[in-house]
Amino acid sequence: MLRLDQKVAIVTGSSSGIGQAIAIEMAKEGASVVINYHSSRDGAEETLRVIEDAGGKGIIVKADVSREEDVLALFAEAIQAFGRLDILVNNTGRQVDSAFLDMSLDQWNAVISTNLTGQFLCAREAARQFVKQGGEPEKAIGAIICMSSVHDMIPWAGHVNYAASKGGVLMFMKSIAQELAPLKIRVNAISPGAIQTPINRSVWSDPAKMPALLNLIPYKRIGKPEDVAKAAVWLASDESDYVTGETLYIDGGMMLYPEFADNG
Ligand code: NAD
Repeated sequence: MLRLDQKVAIVTGSSSGIGQAIAIEMAKEGASVVINYHSSRDGAEETLRVIEDAGGKGIIVKADVSREEDVLALFAEAIQAFGRLDILVNNTGRQVDSAFLDMSLDQWNAVISTNLTGQFLCAREAARQFVKQGGEPEKAIGAIICMSSVHDMIPWAGHVNYAASKGGVLMFMKSIAQELAPLKIRVNAISPGAIQTPINRSVWSDPAKMPALLNLIPYKRIGKPEDVAKAAVWLASDESDYVTGETLYIDGGMMLYPEFADNG
């Protein structure tokens, strides 16, 4: 049997990159998928086309996850289309980089409101829906996956707003995991290392920058969105039923202090 058979999943920011791969992988495993996008309708349509070509089901909903009214409308549309919700992947994230001395309040707020407040708004609506639906005794009634980053642990000069947002996601995830576990809602995070997507195109599209990046990755390759998508399916499925409040680092070893490998 498919691992997400009969499940309904919302994947935020699934018009590109990691979110797109997760939406496609979840649909392959039997889930009906709500493809959320912010600006790229074309990207969302590509996600849906791949899902439908493989025999899966999905709908596309535009929403800015940092806006409460958009999030409420996103969830309402999802429930109207599929009648229920089982999985939320809080994937959306952005970078607005600046040296700290020059960082404007707008640059700070842009990242915090999307990466952190967006996760709060979506997780709250998902949890409310899971509780409303209920479920069988002793079984999980829903799963939430929060996309974090190795920068929830590794400081990142020049990207202070981004690192602060992901550090916030780590403690947000753990705190709601603790609060929602008695309700049988599981909450976990994935912290990717360097995954080849539009967010870091400036690095992987420049051959001069790749050696420095690979020096940070003991496994010596950049990650693929599918590396993350397969883990997301597992975290959303009953196979990980006893896992909550955990962060899975998918990073080719980036968290292993690679600079110590050649240090005598
Ligand atoms: P991406 O730019 O392809 O995806 C980000 C998605 O979020 C895009 O589809 C974008 O349209 C959407 N988005 C941006 N603002 C939005 C908003 N306000 N409302 C709704 N959607 C919005 O990049 P990605 O690498 O696939 O990033 C996905 C997640 O993975 C992000 O949370 C990112 O921080 C995280 N991440 C990525 C890497 C990496 O190396 N690619 C590493 C660590 C963490």
